[in-house]
Amino acid sequence: MQGEVQKVKIGGFKREGRGKRKQNLAESTLIKGGIMAEKLAINGGERLISEGFIKPWPPIDEIDRKYVLESLQQTNHAFGPNCRAFEKEFAQWNGNKYAITTNSGTAALHMAVAACDCSAGDQVIVPAYSWSSSATCVLHHNCIPVFVDIDFDTMNIDTKKIEDAITEKTKAIIVVHLHGLAVNMDEVLKIAKKYHLKVIEDCCQAHGAEFKGKKVGLWGDCAAFSFNQNKCLCSGEGGMLVTDNEEIYKKALMLWSFGETRTPFEKRDYHAYALGWMYRNNDLTAAFGRAQLTKLDRYLEIQKQNASALTEELKGTKGLILPYEPENHKHNWYNYTIRLVPEEFGWKGNLQKFRNAVMKAIQAEGANVSVWQNFILPRMTVFQAKNAYGNGCPWSCQYSKPVTYDPDAYIVAQRHTDTHFGMTEPLRAPNGPEVAVMVGKAIKKVINNIDSLDIEKLGSN
Ligand SMILES: *Cc1c(COP(=O)(O)O)cnc(C)c1O
Repeated sequence: MQGEVQKVKIGGFKREGRGKRKQNLAESTLIKGGIMAEKLAINGGERLISEGFIKPWPPIDEIDRKYVLESLQQTNHAFGPNCRAFEKEFAQWNGNKYAITTNSGTAALHMAVAACDCSAGDQVIVPAYSWSSSATCVLHHNCIPVFVDIDFDTMNIDTKKIEDAITEKTKAIIVVHLHGLAVNMDEVLKIAKKYHLKVIEDCCQAHGAEFKGKKVGLWGDCAAFSFNQNKCLCSGEGGMLVTDNEEIYKKALMLWSFGETRTPFEKRDYHAYALGWMYRNNDLTAAFGRAQLTKLDRYLEIQKQNASALTEELKGTKGLILPYEPENHKHNWYNYTIRLVPEEFGWKGNLQKFRNAVMKAIQAEGANVSVWQNFILPRMTVFQAKNAYGNGCPWSCQYSKPVTYDPDAYIVAQRHTDTHFGMTEPLRAPNGPEVAVMVGKAIKKVINNIDSLDIEKLGSN
């Protein structure tokens, strides 16, 4: 083979054989197993993905401009015609009877807790790994979150552990369809039925995700969606409560607008009939949301194709656990989350250190991957210090029963937190499979050259 020109494909670039390789000697040398060792960007090598190659989310086009400008030109900027139309169109898109547009997903979650008749001191079951507001929305209503560990493969609440967390105080279960993978709702509903519990779906990441061919947001008593910057439908900020239950719809409306028990179309008497917040949406945001909704199905299709391309590229890579889509589930690929297995690289130290070092090296190659949550929920100070409303409330409220938040009781969630990294933008429109493939190559470049990483130094935050 000596002297023959070999084409060696590394990291998406073709390099010519011997002569050329000599020039690149500083950059790449042949190591055991025939893998080319390359100088990682974090160690001063060339980055694999150039600046600007990965396009930001969301794409904005003429449709967005048309909707938003039309909203600007009319005169009702609070709860205006676009808000009403957004509710109708989103309910239709998801298949729900009722929808209420809100200024955040967290607002919709709080409304859901209130609308499910949770009262001071009642307990609500929440997964130990999620966004903080999946659990703090419970506190907002003076109720007590009770955490359940997650299932490692799906990253969702471990349905087998829910029953152990139920007490005579339990009123509801909040399931989070994390990263766009639906929870097994058959199992949740079986438990809810047995103990007469309400089920709230946190669909903030799960637009269009399905279980057994039925969309999320159609399974529980009510559900909350988010339209924040990073979500699969982005209107800047915003959210939506959806339900098929008229009574829940009406109770949610009360909290939504100052405790007034009227819809915006009825005559107001400006009377607070109950405790309320101001969770209404504004017309401009709703117009943006409507415009994005016209494109949502296409965007979700793109995410799915990009996720497949990335899986194809990464399949079989040492030390990586790729996301899992069980049978009967349709993932929406909100966040493509990978877990590292540090043990496979002989690492016996701190797991987060290893993950941080690998992640920083991938970022240096130009792939915007990130840690989604550095803390499991029970480890967060608000729960450890029980410092929600002062004076220990709501935990010290006379209607509450003592609960403990021992972070060591959630070892699966902790292992996941410590070893994961994920991504949203690279797999979103307008990026195509070629972007997903390059991100995969960046990850493999780091994995193949992991011995050159100074993990102790890079891994410290
Ligand atoms: C984003 C998110 C929320 C909160 O939505 P906001 O619109 O930011 O208030 C709640 N739960 C989960 C799982 C989320 O990802």
